[in-house]
Amino acid sequence: MLPKYNRILLKLSGEAFMGEGNSTNPFDPQIIEQYATEIKAVTELGVQVALVIGGGNIYRGLNEKDSGIERAHGDYMGMLATMLNGMAMQAMLERMDVHTRLQSAIKMEAVAEPYIRRKAMRHLEKGRVVIFGAGTGNPYFTTDTAGSLRAIEIKADVILKGTRVDGIYTADPEKDPTATKYDKVSYQECLTNNLKIMDMTAFTLCMENKMPIIVFDMNKVGNLISVVEGKNVGTLVS
Ligand code: UDP
Repeated sequence: MLPKYNRILLKLSGEAFMGEGNSTNPFDPQIIEQYATEIKAVTELGVQVALVIGGGNIYRGLNEKDSGIERAHGDYMGMLATMLNGMAMQAMLERMDVHTRLQSAIKMEAVAEPYIRRKAMRHLEKGRVVIFGAGTGNPYFTTDTAGSLRAIEIKADVILKGTRVDGIYTADPEKDPTATKYDKVSYQECLTNNLKIMDMTAFTLCMENKMPIIVFDMNKVGNLISVVEGKNVGTLVS
């Protein structure tokens, strides 16, 4: 089957890297291997893959009151956390013979290339998986915003938000048994119905630049390939 998308940006949350249960290991090797396997399968279809990974399994800068660390400082710590996840994913992909490049929005030459848009696009054209680390490089943003921004910059066809839920619901399905899943929903409907897909900055960037978003369950084996093949998986926001 021919893929529907030629170039994708896949956003994964850092928290997902911890796996299920009470593990204190921020990197569950099984989960990372599973994700890498899915990514490899998609590249084998000829799809160009860019990745943005969060840092929530290691550090989030949001909680100034509890941490005693001022917000902007904590945010930089969070951005460094995303680099650890990027390096973990890079190692796993390379072990599977997938060529990768890690680009960082904060310069750290010994471990990653600096983020250079045109270079990233060239890597993608050559079939390398490009991992964008360190978020946007700015505090007060999230990795969802980094994902939206990079997707737009590199002219991805779609941003895929891999989560633990299988799409967007009319209401919280855990609280409301009548909640139903959307197959498709417009940006405007998301705003009107206060559907939380991403933070507002990230969402607005996508809306203003007409970047379609697909929210889907990344933990279900085979889902990523199904999404890329255009099958009815998750929820499409456009
Ligand atoms: N962060 C930031 N600027 C960015 C991206 C991330 O300051 O452009 C910081 C912020 O503190 C955030 C943390 O990095 O809480 C980890 O990212 P995020 O919370 O988005 O990770 P996820 O929830 O996807 O695991």
